[in-house]
Amino acid sequence: MGLFEKLKVGLQRTKEELSHKINRIVTGSPTLDDDTLEEIEHALISADLGMPMTRRIVEAVKIVYETQGHQGLDVMAVGRAEITAAFNGTNSGLKKCDDLTVVSLVGVNGTGKTTTSAKLAHRVMSDGRSVVLAACDTFRAAAVEQIKEWGDRLEVPVVAGSYGADPAAVGHDAISAAQACSADYLFIDTAGRLHTKSNLMQELRKLHRVIGGKLEGAPHEVLLVVDATTGMNALNQAREFHKAVPLTGLIVAKLDGTSKGGMVVAIHDELQLPVKFIGLGEQPDDLQPFDAEKFAEALFAE
Ligand code: GDP
Repeated sequence: MGLFEKLKVGLQRTKEELSHKINRIVTGSPTLDDDTLEEIEHALISADLGMPMTRRIVEAVKIVYETQGHQGLDVMAVGRAEITAAFNGTNSGLKKCDDLTVVSLVGVNGTGKTTTSAKLAHRVMSDGRSVVLAACDTFRAAAVEQIKEWGDRLEVPVVAGSYGADPAAVGHDAISAAQACSADYLFIDTAGRLHTKSNLMQELRKLHRVIGGKLEGAPHEVLLVVDATTGMNALNQAREFHKAVPLTGLIVAKLDGTSKGGMVVAIHDELQLPVKFIGLGEQPDDLQPFDAEKFAEALFAE
């Protein structure tokens, strides 16, 4: 399956809900009165596009209707154009430094951080870059095992501390190890933490501080991994994490099979953070660079 096909299949549920509702609303209403606009608004909100984007699309729909009438009105095309415009100019893809680039993956438990670290490793290795993985989740023995399994499968060295070790010390050692083998990238899988737990957020800041002390400018990317199936909860997480550790971008995992795919737009709209990658499955190559135009097309497909 091609990349775009995968994206379309992944967003199928969000798209179906949206397009079925909108087509039913538009074909069932001879005029675009306030009730119809309200129904369109509800359909957009239920896809978790967020209020500001929903309002912009509804306003744009109104303008098209006033200038071109019902005949010329294509709500899906308006949605596509507004979403593409909202992402205009944001870059996807990973930063690359001249030497080692350190990428820290953060987020709440279960969003897909470990799997995403492995997918990123696979991705940059396909581009001929070398990688080290760091297991800085020292709270859960299973987390270390999980990343070691990925390391074996992808043939990537993994630096892991023992259960209960200081994550900052593991991060420090991982940078030494990555530098020793002249790796291009170090992906740090951090422990899942609730954005409401301030001591855990402090620990994350410490990890980043120690890494920055070891290598200037590190971590060069701090990417929040959010779970698309959690819809607007992910927006809350993004707000709080961004306050605690300034993020450089987002990775939206589990976009396959959610009806809340619009949350990508809502988060970007509010925080203006680049969406770097999207996850569309559990396999190493189920990670795609985010492409706003293709995303809008898949979301608002006819
Ligand atoms: P972590 O606790 O944040 O490290 O999350 P994990 O990487 O362990 O992922 C939690 C679960 O989500 C695992 O079962 C993964 O296989 C699954 N997962 C991760 N990313 C994706 C994705 O993009 N799509 C799907 N369908 N599942 C995913």
